[in-house]
Amino acid sequence: MPGKLAIHGGTPVRKTIVPYGHQWIDSDDSQAVTDVLKTDWITQGPKVEEFEHVVSKYCHAKYAVAFSSGTAALHAAAFTAGVSYGSDVITSPITFVADGNCVLYLGGTVKFSDINPDTYNIDPGNIKTTLTSKTKALIPVDFAGQPCDLDEINTIASDHRIPVIEDAAHSLGAEYKGKKIGGLADFTVFSFHPVKAITTGEGGMVLTNYEEFYEQLLMFRTHGITKDPRKLKRNEGAWYYEMQELGFNYRLTDLQCALGISQFKKLDTFIKRRRAIALQYNNAFSELQEITIPYEKKDVRSAYHIYVIQLQLERLTCGRKTIFDALRAENIGVQVHYIPVHYQPYYQQNLGYKKGNFPFAERYYERALTLPLFPRMTDGDVEDVIEAVQKVISYYRRD
Ligand SMILES: *Cc1c(COP(=O)(O)O)cnc(C)c1O
Repeated sequence: MPGKLAIHGGTPVRKTIVPYGHQWIDSDDSQAVTDVLKTDWITQGPKVEEFEHVVSKYCHAKYAVAFSSGTAALHAAAFTAGVSYGSDVITSPITFVADGNCVLYLGGTVKFSDINPDTYNIDPGNIKTTLTSKTKALIPVDFAGQPCDLDEINTIASDHRIPVIEDAAHSLGAEYKGKKIGGLADFTVFSFHPVKAITTGEGGMVLTNYEEFYEQLLMFRTHGITKDPRKLKRNEGAWYYEMQELGFNYRLTDLQCALGISQFKKLDTFIKRRRAIALQYNNAFSELQEITIPYEKKDVRSAYHIYVIQLQLERLTCGRKTIFDALRAENIGVQVHYIPVHYQPYYQQNLGYKKGNFPFAERYYERALTLPLFPRMTDGDVEDVIEAVQKVISYYRRD
């Protein structure tokens, strides 16, 4: 018999909160950063290219450019993809706001395509019906770490001669049909925010197989400036540089890249641990009819950035908010990923979106709950989450 819920004054399953995600920094990581502090380079030294090389090699992509955040990386990729005033760009409504925002920064218009109700990723069939002659790029998202339908999306894009910017902020280390995510789209974008697979504090990266894109990305990262003699319109001497595009200061520092290199060594063990925890959850929750566990397609290997369940509201006496609040009271740091972007006031006021536009995304959102999942969780933490979910669900179960 489960105890009284903490939200009703009972004893919580845990004394302290377990967050939904957390970085794992060890003494190797700290050492790597302090080593750089003793060198001549605090920013833009050798660690930047070294980090880019480590990531591009692992992902089998030809080129990589580090950025100050995943959002900056998306902005640079969208710029390089040719997004500008008058461009439409298609993305998923179930993502972080950065995917739409990077289009708005460039004067473009955001078009959403509804998700697939099983994978929660953008549905290629819906992309086809959203696409018009004004569509200048696609930004699919590898939601929760599960790669999107890259073959179908790449085919649609090449049929229309438009580039694909894969938002892989969740899927560093994931695989699609036996290949690592990173070299499978025109642009692949990673984030190194602390909740992501590995961290540099803030940070991001764009991978590409095209030299022309690589050079544009480099320029965009540094104010649109080039010193490359092959690219200069004229050359007045060794001091000379030209600003040829309107870029930004989106550089990632040597300190951060040193942290990234050190963190990257642990990526595979991190992903392995994430997958082991996800499996434990799957085993525990597959018996609960009130919960739908994540569905992983046969031909992918998810990086399990987050573990999202769907509540079967028909089988419960309450809505998602009550379950959320009850789990928080048990000290389980549940979250919701994401509020559909077309619900955001800015998008509704400026782009005319409204509730009802994307039924699968909206149905998903009403039921979604993210449970804690990060490599540093102990077995005890995992057991606490399972116990708390079982306790709360059985209390609100509809008989
Ligand atoms: C984290 C994230 C981003 C943005 O990355 P930042 O490094 O925080 O700027 C973009 N898209 C998705 C899906 C993300 O989860």
